[in-house]
Amino acid sequence: MTIDLRSDTVTRPTKEMKDAMFSAKVGDDVFNEDPTVIALEEKTAALFGKEAGIFCPSGTMTNQIAIKVHTQPGDEVICESTCHIYNYEGGGIAFNSGAQAKLQVGDRGRMSAKQVEENINASFDWLTRTSLVSIENTCNRSGGSYYSLSGMKEIAETCKKYSLKYHLDGARIFNALVESKYSAQDAGKLFDSVSVCLSKGLGAPVGSVLLGSKEFIVKARRVRKVFGGGMRQAGYLAAAGIYALDNHVKRLTEDHARAKELGEVLKSLPFIESILPVDTNIIIFTLSDKMKSEDLVARLKSKDIISTGFGKQTIRFVTHLDFTDEMLEKTIIELKSLK
Ligand SMILES: *Cc1c(COP(=O)(O)O)cnc(C)c1O
Repeated sequence: MTIDLRSDTVTRPTKEMKDAMFSAKVGDDVFNEDPTVIALEEKTAALFGKEAGIFCPSGTMTNQIAIKVHTQPGDEVICESTCHIYNYEGGGIAFNSGAQAKLQVGDRGRMSAKQVEENINASFDWLTRTSLVSIENTCNRSGGSYYSLSGMKEIAETCKKYSLKYHLDGARIFNALVESKYSAQDAGKLFDSVSVCLSKGLGAPVGSVLLGSKEFIVKARRVRKVFGGGMRQAGYLAAAGIYALDNHVKRLTEDHARAKELGEVLKSLPFIESILPVDTNIIIFTLSDKMKSEDLVARLKSKDIISTGFGKQTIRFVTHLDFTDEMLEKTIIELKSLK
Protein backbone atom coordinates (compact mmCIF):
# COMPACT_ATOMS: atom_id res chain seq x y z
CA MET A 1 0.00 0.00 0.00
CA THR A 2 1.59 3.22 -1.22
CA ILE A 3 0.41 6.33 0.60
CA ASP A 4 0.65 9.46 -1.50
CA LEU A 5 0.44 12.71 0.44
CA ARG A 6 2.11 14.90 -2.19
CA SER A 7 -1.02 16.54 -3.55
CA ASP A 8 -4.77 16.22 -3.96
CA THR A 9 -4.10 15.93 -7.71
CA VAL A 10 -2.86 12.32 -7.43
CA THR A 11 -6.34 10.77 -7.18
CA ARG A 12 -7.56 8.31 -9.80
CA PRO A 13 -11.14 8.22 -11.08
CA THR A 14 -13.42 5.85 -9.16
CA LYS A 15 -15.28 3.06 -10.95
CA GLU A 16 -18.53 5.06 -10.78
CA MET A 17 -16.79 8.11 -12.22
CA LYS A 18 -15.37 6.02 -15.07
CA ASP A 19 -18.83 4.58 -15.78
CA ALA A 20 -20.17 8.14 -16.03
CA MET A 21 -17.33 9.05 -18.40
CA PHE A 22 -17.77 6.08 -20.70
CA SER A 23 -21.49 6.61 -21.06
CA ALA A 24 -21.22 10.36 -21.82
CA LYS A 25 -22.89 11.82 -24.90
CA VAL A 26 -20.29 13.82 -26.80
CA GLY A 27 -19.86 16.17 -29.77
CA ASP A 28 -17.31 18.67 -31.07
CA ASP A 29 -16.89 21.26 -28.35
CA VAL A 30 -14.98 23.72 -30.56
CA PHE A 31 -18.28 23.91 -32.50
CA ASN A 32 -20.05 24.22 -29.10
CA GLU A 33 -21.77 20.90 -29.81
CA ASP A 34 -20.72 18.68 -26.90
CA PRO A 35 -23.85 18.27 -24.75
CA THR A 36 -21.91 17.03 -21.71
CA VAL A 37 -19.44 19.93 -21.76
CA ILE A 38 -22.36 22.35 -22.09
CA ALA A 39 -24.13 20.64 -19.18
CA LEU A 40 -21.01 20.91 -16.99
CA GLU A 41 -20.52 24.59 -17.87
CA GLU A 42 -24.18 25.41 -17.16
CA LYS A 43 -24.25 23.40 -13.94
CA THR A 44 -21.10 25.04 -12.53
CA ALA A 45 -22.22 28.53 -13.57
CA ALA A 46 -25.62 28.04 -11.90
CA LEU A 47 -23.97 26.74 -8.74
CA PHE A 48 -21.90 29.93 -8.39
CA GLY A 49 -24.64 32.27 -9.63
CA LYS A 50 -22.75 33.24 -12.79
CA GLU A 51 -24.19 33.59 -16.31
CA ALA A 52 -21.85 31.26 -18.15
CA GLY A 53 -18.83 28.96 -17.96
CA ILE A 54 -16.07 27.49 -20.11
CA PHE A 55 -14.43 24.09 -19.58
CA CYS A 56 -10.62 24.09 -19.85
CA PRO A 57 -7.85 21.48 -19.50
CA SER A 58 -6.30 23.03 -16.39
CA GLY A 59 -6.60 25.61 -13.65
CA THR A 60 -3.52 27.31 -14.99
CA MET A 61 -5.38 27.85 -18.25
CA THR A 62 -8.56 29.17 -16.60
CA ASN A 63 -6.53 31.63 -14.48
CA GLN A 64 -4.41 32.74 -17.43
CA ILE A 65 -7.45 33.23 -19.67
CA ALA A 66 -9.08 35.37 -16.98
CA ILE A 67 -5.94 37.53 -16.61
CA LYS A 68 -5.70 37.91 -20.40
CA VAL A 69 -9.34 39.00 -20.74
CA HIS A 70 -9.23 41.40 -17.78
CA THR A 71 -5.95 43.20 -18.57
CA GLN A 72 -4.03 45.04 -21.30
CA PRO A 73 -0.24 44.74 -21.79
CA GLY A 74 1.55 46.91 -19.23
CA ASP A 75 -1.21 46.60 -16.63
CA GLU A 76 -0.70 45.55 -13.04
CA VAL A 77 -2.42 42.71 -11.17
CA ILE A 78 -2.65 42.97 -7.37
CA CYS A 79 -2.18 39.53 -5.83
CA GLU A 80 -0.69 37.83 -2.78
CA SER A 81 3.01 36.91 -2.66
CA THR A 82 2.40 33.16 -2.27
CA CYS A 83 -0.30 32.87 -4.93
CA HIS A 84 -0.40 30.29 -7.70
CA ILE A 85 -0.89 32.73 -10.59
CA TYR A 86 2.42 34.42 -9.74
CA ASN A 87 4.55 31.51 -8.44
CA TYR A 88 3.43 28.39 -10.25
CA GLU A 89 2.18 29.35 -13.70
CA GLY A 90 5.52 29.75 -15.44
CA GLY A 91 5.51 33.54 -15.41
CA GLY A 92 2.23 33.45 -17.33
CA ILE A 93 1.08 36.91 -16.20
CA ALA A 94 4.00 38.37 -18.15
CA PHE A 95 4.24 35.68 -20.85
CA ASN A 96 0.58 35.58 -21.88
CA SER A 97 -0.73 39.01 -20.95
CA GLY A 98 2.34 41.28 -20.86
CA ALA A 99 1.15 42.37 -17.43
CA GLN A 100 2.99 42.49 -14.11
CA ALA A 101 2.15 41.54 -10.54
CA LYS A 102 2.08 43.80 -7.49
CA LEU A 103 2.63 41.35 -4.67
CA GLN A 104 1.22 41.77 -1.18
CA VAL A 105 2.06 39.79 1.91
CA GLY A 106 -1.24 38.78 3.44
CA ASP A 107 -2.39 37.00 6.57
CA ARG A 108 -1.62 33.39 5.65
CA GLY A 109 -2.23 34.17 2.00
CA ARG A 110 -5.25 36.40 2.52
CA MET A 111 -5.05 40.03 1.45
CA SER A 112 -7.13 42.76 3.08
CA ALA A 113 -9.19 45.41 1.30
CA LYS A 114 -6.92 48.04 2.87
CA GLN A 115 -3.84 46.43 1.29
CA VAL A 116 -5.57 46.38 -2.06
CA GLU A 117 -6.69 49.99 -1.81
CA GLU A 118 -3.22 51.21 -0.79
CA ASN A 119 -1.68 49.56 -3.84
CA ILE A 120 -3.92 50.88 -6.58
CA ASN A 121 -1.93 53.30 -8.71
CA ALA A 122 -3.16 56.80 -9.46
CA SER A 123 -3.87 57.44 -13.13
CA PHE A 124 -0.71 59.35 -14.09
CA ASP A 125 0.76 58.51 -17.50
CA TRP A 126 3.95 57.22 -15.91
CA LEU A 127 2.35 54.84 -13.43
CA THR A 128 1.37 51.29 -14.22
CA ARG A 129 -2.38 50.93 -14.70
CA THR A 130 -3.92 48.74 -12.01
CA SER A 131 -6.69 46.73 -13.63
CA LEU A 132 -7.15 43.44 -11.78
CA VAL A 133 -7.19 42.00 -8.26
CA SER A 134 -6.85 38.22 -7.96
CA ILE A 135 -7.27 36.22 -4.77
CA GLU A 136 -6.85 32.52 -4.02
CA ASN A 137 -9.31 30.57 -1.86
CA THR A 138 -8.22 28.32 -0.26
CA CYS A 139 -4.61 29.52 -0.15
CA ASN A 140 -2.35 26.63 -1.15
CA ARG A 141 1.10 27.81 -0.17
CA SER A 142 -0.25 29.20 3.11
CA GLY A 143 -1.56 25.86 4.29
CA GLY A 144 -5.14 25.76 3.04
CA SER A 145 -6.37 28.84 4.90
CA TYR A 146 -9.62 30.32 3.60
CA TYR A 147 -11.20 33.75 3.32
CA SER A 148 -14.22 34.84 5.33
CA LEU A 149 -17.14 36.01 3.22
CA SER A 150 -16.71 39.54 4.58
CA GLY A 151 -12.99 39.47 3.71
CA MET A 152 -13.82 38.69 0.08
CA LYS A 153 -16.71 41.18 0.06
CA GLU A 154 -14.64 44.11 1.31
CA ILE A 155 -12.14 43.58 -1.51
CA ALA A 156 -15.07 43.36 -3.97
CA GLU A 157 -16.30 46.76 -2.77
CA THR A 158 -12.84 48.25 -3.21
CA CYS A 159 -12.65 46.81 -6.74
CA LYS A 160 -16.03 48.33 -7.59
CA LYS A 161 -15.04 51.72 -6.19
CA TYR A 162 -11.92 51.86 -8.40
CA SER A 163 -13.39 50.01 -11.43
CA LEU A 164 -11.02 47.06 -11.10
CA LYS A 165 -11.82 43.52 -12.19
CA TYR A 166 -11.86 40.86 -9.46
CA HIS A 167 -10.83 37.23 -10.08
CA LEU A 168 -11.06 34.22 -7.78
CA ASP A 169 -8.58 31.37 -8.19
CA GLY A 170 -10.88 28.75 -6.68
CA ALA A 171 -8.70 25.70 -7.30
CA ARG A 172 -9.87 24.55 -3.86
CA ILE A 173 -12.97 26.71 -3.43
CA PHE A 174 -15.07 23.70 -2.37
CA ASN A 175 -12.69 23.05 0.53
CA ALA A 176 -13.41 26.61 1.66
CA LEU A 177 -17.16 26.21 1.11
CA VAL A 178 -17.63 23.03 3.16
CA GLU A 179 -15.57 24.47 6.01
CA SER A 180 -16.75 28.10 6.09
CA LYS A 181 -20.44 27.47 5.38
CA TYR A 182 -20.91 30.40 2.97
CA SER A 183 -22.55 29.28 -0.23
CA ALA A 184 -21.07 29.05 -3.72
CA GLN A 185 -23.55 31.74 -4.80
CA ASP A 186 -22.57 34.08 -1.94
CA ALA A 187 -18.93 33.81 -3.02
CA GLY A 188 -19.52 33.69 -6.78
CA LYS A 189 -21.52 36.89 -7.05
CA LEU A 190 -18.63 38.95 -5.63
CA PHE A 191 -16.32 38.23 -8.57
CA ASP A 192 -16.07 39.10 -12.26
CA SER A 193 -14.55 35.67 -12.86
CA VAL A 194 -14.14 32.45 -10.90
CA SER A 195 -11.86 29.49 -11.68
CA VAL A 196 -13.09 26.21 -10.24
CA CYS A 197 -10.89 23.10 -10.28
CA LEU A 198 -12.31 19.61 -10.78
CA SER A 199 -9.06 17.65 -10.61
CA LYS A 200 -7.93 18.55 -7.08
CA GLY A 201 -10.07 17.54 -4.10
CA LEU A 202 -13.03 16.63 -6.31
CA GLY A 203 -11.06 13.78 -7.85
CA ALA A 204 -11.77 14.24 -11.58
CA PRO A 205 -8.85 13.31 -13.86
CA VAL A 206 -8.78 16.59 -15.80
CA GLY A 207 -10.19 20.05 -15.93
CA SER A 208 -11.25 23.38 -14.54
CA VAL A 209 -14.22 25.60 -15.33
CA LEU A 210 -13.94 29.37 -15.70
CA LEU A 211 -17.10 31.32 -14.84
CA GLY A 212 -18.27 34.85 -15.52
CA SER A 213 -20.75 36.97 -17.48
CA LYS A 214 -21.86 35.86 -20.97
CA GLU A 215 -19.78 38.66 -22.47
CA PHE A 216 -16.70 37.58 -20.50
CA ILE A 217 -17.07 33.95 -21.58
CA VAL A 218 -17.37 34.93 -25.28
CA LYS A 219 -13.96 36.61 -24.93
CA ALA A 220 -12.63 33.67 -22.89
CA ARG A 221 -13.56 31.23 -25.68
CA ARG A 222 -11.38 33.17 -28.14
CA VAL A 223 -8.45 33.21 -25.72
CA ARG A 224 -8.84 29.50 -24.93
CA LYS A 225 -8.53 28.74 -28.65
CA VAL A 226 -5.39 30.90 -28.94
CA PHE A 227 -3.88 29.11 -25.93
CA GLY A 228 -4.51 25.76 -27.64
CA GLY A 229 -7.22 24.73 -25.19
CA GLY A 230 -10.07 24.12 -27.64
CA MET A 231 -10.92 20.44 -27.13
CA ARG A 232 -13.14 18.30 -29.32
CA GLN A 233 -15.09 15.38 -27.74
CA ALA A 234 -14.27 16.66 -24.27
CA GLY A 235 -17.59 15.45 -22.89
CA TYR A 236 -15.86 12.26 -21.68
CA LEU A 237 -13.82 14.50 -19.35
CA ALA A 238 -16.70 16.84 -18.51
CA ALA A 239 -18.75 13.82 -17.40
CA ALA A 240 -16.16 13.15 -14.71
CA GLY A 241 -16.54 16.74 -13.58
CA ILE A 242 -20.33 16.47 -13.35
CA TYR A 243 -19.98 13.24 -11.38
CA ALA A 244 -17.47 14.92 -9.05
CA LEU A 245 -19.73 17.91 -8.39
CA ASP A 246 -22.63 15.59 -7.58
CA ASN A 247 -20.74 13.12 -5.41
CA HIS A 248 -17.40 14.42 -4.16
CA VAL A 249 -18.11 17.80 -2.59
CA LYS A 250 -19.67 16.97 0.79
CA ARG A 251 -17.07 14.31 1.52
CA LEU A 252 -14.28 16.92 1.53
CA THR A 253 -15.02 17.28 5.26
CA GLU A 254 -13.51 13.77 5.64
CA ASP A 255 -10.25 14.99 4.07
CA HIS A 256 -10.27 17.92 6.47
CA ALA A 257 -10.86 15.70 9.52
CA ARG A 258 -7.97 13.41 8.50
CA ALA A 259 -5.72 16.41 7.90
CA LYS A 260 -6.55 17.82 11.32
CA GLU A 261 -5.79 14.47 12.96
CA LEU A 262 -2.44 14.27 11.15
CA GLY A 263 -1.72 17.84 12.25
CA GLU A 264 -2.32 16.96 15.90
CA VAL A 265 0.06 13.99 15.67
CA LEU A 266 2.74 16.08 13.95
CA LYS A 267 2.48 18.73 16.68
CA SER A 268 3.39 16.14 19.30
CA LEU A 269 6.57 14.92 17.53
CA PRO A 270 9.90 16.08 18.97
CA PHE A 271 11.56 16.85 15.61
CA ILE A 272 8.82 19.24 14.50
CA GLU A 273 9.38 22.90 15.19
CA SER A 274 6.09 24.38 14.02
CA ILE A 275 3.01 23.67 11.98
CA LEU A 276 0.60 26.04 10.24
CA PRO A 277 -2.98 25.84 11.48
CA VAL A 278 -4.75 23.03 9.60
CA ASP A 279 -7.91 24.69 8.27
CA THR A 280 -8.75 22.36 5.37
CA ASN A 281 -6.83 19.54 3.63
CA ILE A 282 -3.28 20.95 3.58
CA ILE A 283 -0.70 20.44 6.30
CA ILE A 284 2.51 22.47 6.20
CA PHE A 285 5.07 21.91 8.92
CA THR A 286 8.64 22.93 9.64
CA LEU A 287 11.27 20.60 11.08
CA SER A 288 13.58 21.47 13.93
CA ASP A 289 17.25 22.21 13.18
CA LYS A 290 18.31 18.61 13.52
CA MET A 291 16.41 17.38 10.48
CA LYS A 292 16.24 18.43 6.83
CA SER A 293 13.07 17.99 4.80
CA GLU A 294 14.81 15.78 2.24
CA ASP A 295 15.86 13.41 5.05
CA LEU A 296 12.34 13.05 6.42
CA VAL A 297 10.88 12.73 2.90
CA ALA A 298 13.41 9.91 2.23
CA ARG A 299 12.66 8.13 5.51
CA LEU A 300 8.93 8.26 4.86
CA LYS A 301 9.51 7.05 1.31
CA SER A 302 11.25 3.95 2.68
CA LYS A 303 7.93 3.24 4.48
CA ASP A 304 5.99 3.74 1.24
CA ILE A 305 4.70 7.17 2.24
CA ILE A 306 5.34 9.83 -0.39
CA SER A 307 5.46 13.53 0.50
CA THR A 308 6.95 16.75 -0.86
CA GLY A 309 9.61 19.05 0.57
CA PHE A 310 8.29 22.61 0.49
CA GLY A 311 11.63 24.21 1.29
CA LYS A 312 14.79 23.18 3.14
CA GLN A 313 13.00 22.31 6.36
CA THR A 314 9.37 22.51 5.41
CA ILE A 315 7.13 19.70 4.23
CA ARG A 316 3.61 19.67 2.83
CA PHE A 317 1.08 16.87 3.20
CA VAL A 318 -2.24 17.01 1.36
CA THR A 319 -5.18 14.71 2.12
CA HIS A 320 -7.57 13.64 -0.64
CA LEU A 321 -10.11 11.17 -1.98
CA ASP A 322 -7.59 8.32 -2.23
CA PHE A 323 -6.22 8.79 1.29
CA THR A 324 -8.26 6.45 3.45
CA ASP A 325 -8.64 5.92 7.20
CA GLU A 326 -6.46 2.82 6.91
CA MET A 327 -3.72 4.96 5.34
CA LEU A 328 -4.17 7.60 8.02
CA GLU A 329 -3.63 4.97 10.70
CA LYS A 330 -0.51 3.63 9.02
CA THR A 331 0.90 7.14 8.50
CA ILE A 332 0.37 7.97 12.18
CA ILE A 333 2.08 4.76 13.30
CA GLU A 334 5.07 5.38 11.02
CA LEU A 335 5.39 9.04 12.07
CA LYS A 336 5.31 8.13 15.75
CA SER A 337 7.99 5.48 15.22
CA LEU A 338 10.45 8.06 13.83
CA LYS A 339 13.05 9.40 16.20
C1 LIG B 1 -3.42 23.49 -8.70
C2 LIG B 1 -3.75 24.92 -8.63
C3 LIG B 1 -4.10 25.66 -9.78
C4 LIG B 1 -4.19 25.10 -11.18
O1 LIG B 1 -3.46 24.02 -11.42
P1 LIG B 1 -3.48 23.07 -12.70
O2 LIG B 1 -2.55 22.03 -12.29
O3 LIG B 1 -3.04 23.91 -13.84
O4 LIG B 1 -4.88 22.60 -12.90
C5 LIG B 1 -4.40 26.98 -9.62
N1 LIG B 1 -4.38 27.56 -8.41
C6 LIG B 1 -4.07 26.89 -7.30
C7 LIG B 1 -4.11 27.58 -5.98
C8 LIG B 1 -3.73 25.55 -7.36
O5 LIG B 1 -3.42 24.90 -6.24
